[in-house]
Amino acid sequence: MTDAAELERRTAELLAALPPATTDRLDFLKARFDAGLAWVHYPEGLGGLGAPRSLQAVVDAELEAAGAPDNDPRRIGIGLGMAAPTILRYGTEEQKERFLRPLWVGEEVWCQLFSEPGAGSDLAALGTRAVREGDDWVVNGQKVWTSSAHIARWAILIARTDPDVPKHQGITYFICDMTDPGVEVRPLRQITGEAEFNEVFLTDVRIPDSRRLGEVGDGWRVAQTTLNNERVAIGGMRLPREGGMIGPVSKTWRERPELRTHDLHQRLLKLWVEAEVARLTGERLRQQLVAGQPGPEGSGMKLAFARLNQEISGLEVELLGEEGLLYDDWTMRRPELVDFTGREAGYRYLRSKGNSIEGGTSEVLLNIVAERVLGLPAEPRTDKDVAWKDLAR
Ligand SMILES: Cc1cc2nc3c(=O)[nH]c(=O)nc-3n(C[C@H](O)[C@H](O)[C@H](O)COP(=O)(O)OP(=O)(O)OC[C@H]3O[C@@H](n4cnc5c(N)ncnc54)[C@H](O)[C@@H]3O)c2cc1C
Repeated sequence: MTDAAELERRTAELLAALPPATTDRLDFLKARFDAGLAWVHYPEGLGGLGAPRSLQAVVDAELEAAGAPDNDPRRIGIGLGMAAPTILRYGTEEQKERFLRPLWVGEEVWCQLFSEPGAGSDLAALGTRAVREGDDWVVNGQKVWTSSAHIARWAILIARTDPDVPKHQGITYFICDMTDPGVEVRPLRQITGEAEFNEVFLTDVRIPDSRRLGEVGDGWRVAQTTLNNERVAIGGMRLPREGGMIGPVSKTWRERPELRTHDLHQRLLKLWVEAEVARLTGERLRQQLVAGQPGPEGSGMKLAFARLNQEISGLEVELLGEEGLLYDDWTMRRPELVDFTGREAGYRYLRSKGNSIEGGTSEVLLNIVAERVLGLPAEPRTDKDVAWKDLAR
């Protein structure tokens, strides 16, 4: 088993062979991946060393201190947080070899083609069809709210391969080439003025069977790996104290005493403590991850993240008074990442509205926590045994 001392030794070796100051960024990242120091808990040959996940911090700290470049994790969040764990768990050896390295170094951006106009919370109702033709699948349908589709090279896609069985059973999981001529990406402008996500139209897109992930008809089970990891990726990011939404408002509070009132002080204190508790709970969740796949705890974490972000950004706008009503930029940007701290208070306030929708709405996550954590009775599900083609739409 690789221990901390071994990781320190390998990191020092990498830094000596490729000093960050004089090495091309991408060359350094590729060498880091090949040395097994990308995600140390991944298997050897796939960017890791089969080491305990908790030891990643040892490598990260050494590399940061040496001024080494990182892989810009927020830009490639869907790849790192959702596609990679799914490929690792269900992919063939060829798929792992082909996709994980360019994904981790950031050469290839990924997006997630799951939601449809008629299938969001009830994702299993999706209607995008994949029909087998020889060695290929031919895909037709429409996806929506696809973050980063405009910069993505690959997508994780779920589609219906059998309409004659109940909705959860007839779904298959694929890797879709976003450069296929049948893929059309159209921007969707959101409340912030940006178009961070898209509609994606799929017309006769041909996907070779070799880009199927998991068995035919088993896509719902494969998708659970993606969705559980998505909630952890959204709600469970590792942050320093005051690293999240609470940071900018605390800074304004310290630097602008003229804005303070007793009422705002009490509310800020309460939210500061809650943000810190959520941050530390995230640490605990990460320790649990060391022991296996994320479970419903990720849903609880994501719930807290959404509520806190909305309350904190609301308080920040209130604290700033008239200034809080100004908006820094209404142009339709096509951002490559969501940058909460790089923009003004108004942006944080508007963008955090989406936090209780993306990655599963707060209402749906409450249902998951109620059923799977608290053991409360499940919602009635009358369509479980009905063939998808017979469902009312
Ligand atoms: C910023 C952002 C980024 C996104 N990025 C992506 C992406 O990259 N890829 C992707 O595939 N999707 C993405 N989504 C889509 C997101 O996953 C869906 O919006 C979400 O799952 C909700 O689906 P819906 O919008 O169809 O709403 P609906 O499912 O139609 O829900 C409407 C309302 O009904 C409530 N509701 C529904 N079912 C229940 C229930 N059983 N119990 C109680 N209340 C219920 C919901 O909570 C909600 O308030 C993104 C969304 C946002 C906001």
